[in-house]
Amino acid sequence: MTRIQTVAFSKHSTNLFFHILTKCNLKCRHCYINPAQHGKNTLPLATIKAWLDVFSGHSDSKNLIFLGGEPTLHPDLAAAVKHARSLGFGSITIDSNGYLFGDILSRVTPAEVDYFSFSLDGATRETNDLIRGQGSYDACLDGIRRAIDRGFTASLIYTVSSTNLHELEMMAPLLDRLGIDRFFIQVIGLRGKSAIGQDVPESQRSPQVLRSQWLATVPGIANMIAERGITVTYPKVFLNSEEKFECAGRVADNYFVFPNGRVYRCPLCEDFPIHSLCIRENQLMSTAKLNEQDFFQLDIPEGCVMNKLIQPHNITYNEQGVPEYQIACCLLKEEVQGG
Ligand code: SF4
Ligand code: SF4
Repeated sequence: MTRIQTVAFSKHSTNLFFHILTKCNLKCRHCYINPAQHGKNTLPLATIKAWLDVFSGHSDSKNLIFLGGEPTLHPDLAAAVKHARSLGFGSITIDSNGYLFGDILSRVTPAEVDYFSFSLDGATRETNDLIRGQGSYDACLDGIRRAIDRGFTASLIYTVSSTNLHELEMMAPLLDRLGIDRFFIQVIGLRGKSAIGQDVPESQRSPQVLRSQWLATVPGIANMIAERGITVTYPKVFLNSEEKFECAGRVADNYFVFPNGRVYRCPLCEDFPIHSLCIRENQLMSTAKLNEQDFFQLDIPEGCVMNKLIQPHNITYNEQGVPEYQIACCLLKEEVQGG
């Protein structure tokens, strides 16, 4: 038996997605890091601590995800984790491509880090390495094994594109073998390199999946994996007519922080200088209009305004020009729990 639920947005729980640097050892095809918009700097430890302090009083329930680039390339990641723990962040995750630089597993403890979250984009070496680069499959599996051996809890993120959709089902036995606790399915979007990489030949891009492919594949496979006792989360993407559209920018408390001081409330806005907040002299400040908040307030029949602006081809219309479905907020997730 599995149980599926839509994870509701909440103003009472703060989610801080903290990019402490943008440097990375890999060059994944679909990387959403956009140095022109996010900067190239590595934040000093003192700044990381000061920025964590900025968000520490936001709510009693605070979740922190350390991101990059590759966050384990930061020499002071362990000290940043310890500071966050002392500030009362309830859940701390480190996202990693698996290389786990700087001997991070021996510099933090399972009591300090709730999840190491690894990224793998293929059940086979061939497919993953086509997307993420040669050697990244073996490095990721090795990193997962080392983390679990040390007593950490590991989760895995799989970004679905038409290059790897056919291998999603094959992830089930691999997740079992590895001892993965939570599996996050993501959908590829036109962000970062996917959006600006026009110099990449068409044949080498990781294209988006069609609605029909997504609906026919992802929910069923998520359920099948959850039956193995693994919690699976995937984005809703397409709403049916009974489901109500909500923009997380209006009703949730999420912050996507970049090392150049930009703070977004919506990941789909990250390729544009429309962040609604910024950190200056270690203070969180509002930015001038026009910014993402102005987009969040627009009600359109297609659902998500930013989706309509940056990837409108995923919406279809009937003969009267009415959208046949709405696109959900990219942050709206379905969670399937196994028995
Ligand atoms: S591991 Fe992450 S940050 Fe590094 S290139 Fe790949 S997607 Fe980008
Ligand atoms: S993805 Fe769309 S719905 Fe979600 S916060 Fe951004 S603009 Fe709002």
